[in-house]
Amino acid sequence: MTRFERLRLDGVTRQFAGVDALSELSLEIQRGEFIALLGPSGCGKSTALNCLAGLLPLTAGSIWRDDVRLDTLPPERRGFGMVFQNYALFPHMSVQKNVSFGLQMHGVTRAETRRRTTDAIRLVHLEEHATKLPGQLSGGQQQRVAIARAVVIEPSLVLMDEPLSNLDAKLRLEMRTEIRRLHQSLGLTTVYVTHDQEEALSLSDRLVVLRDGRVQQIGTPEEVHTRPANRHVADFMGYRNLLPGRASSGASLLLEPSGVRVKGTPVGSVNDGDPVVAAIRPEDIRLDGDREATVDVVEYQGREFTVEARTDDGLMLHLRTGTRLSVGDKVRVGFPPDRLLLFPAEAS
Ligand code: ATP
Repeated sequence: MTRFERLRLDGVTRQFAGVDALSELSLEIQRGEFIALLGPSGCGKSTALNCLAGLLPLTAGSIWRDDVRLDTLPPERRGFGMVFQNYALFPHMSVQKNVSFGLQMHGVTRAETRRRTTDAIRLVHLEEHATKLPGQLSGGQQQRVAIARAVVIEPSLVLMDEPLSNLDAKLRLEMRTEIRRLHQSLGLTTVYVTHDQEEALSLSDRLVVLRDGRVQQIGTPEEVHTRPANRHVADFMGYRNLLPGRASSGASLLLEPSGVRVKGTPVGSVNDGDPVVAAIRPEDIRLDGDREATVDVVEYQGREFTVEARTDDGLMLHLRTGTRLSVGDKVRVGFPPDRLLLFPAEAS
């Protein structure tokens, strides 16, 4: 494995037809870190990954492994392992051959190739399937082959592009744990692209939230979850209640159109009179507050209910509760000021 301390992306930019698909991404990745690139469809995640992999040339910027410049090297000389959404296995080759292929390309001896291939196949629990063709395996098993093939070359960085999105919900959870386990036990450095915030939060040490090709926030899962940098990140991280209003006297907010005054926590610069958006997650709205709301819609979600309720002064809210509620029930809602985040409405 290539020894290194950090990978550095410096102002990485990629345009298509003069338009930025990825704009000035700067990021330092420490060895052993698990980084998730997160954002909605079209935000530039795959572009970032493909720039790192060397599958797309940069329009501007540079990529470094310690003090070695990588962005001028072809993909095969960067020493990265790739796992794609569609697995990209060779259909006419056995599991063994798929996994050992990369080693042969790297000129590893036969004995060494055999040993490392067997180890990698064992690592992803496919010993019994080693001689089968990809077509004889389930989706989850094929994804395991793709992972074994990526890690067998002992890559300095593993790049994964939505590797679980073709799997059913149960398998996706199992493979998620598997990926984290492999990452830890092999001491891998991983960059993982997903549009699934739960996946990003549960897997990564840090996540990079992108929107329209631009970085919105870089932080630990906890930082991004509890202190989203702007209302777009908040929206993406499950702050389903986005309430328009106007800032008034410090951290309080006059909600529009109801004229109700509530207290919140400003994020960024918010001055009196500014239009703001107040964001709060359904699970953070208290149900012992002083404002009455009437239940409109109830959705059962396993352990809890997601409820839509309308306050007497016309606010439409999404709540979360363990208590079974029925349409027409009255609840008393309240907003804990530290959970109600006030964002400038104009900022992008
Ligand atoms: P998804 O989750 O849907 O894969 P993404 O976040 O990975 O989306 P990218 O595939 O990186 O997004 O695309 C970013 C932007 O660049 C999009 O607006 C896309 O239309 C554009 N784009 C990507 N590849 C090309 C290309 N080869 N030619 C022209 N435009 C492209």
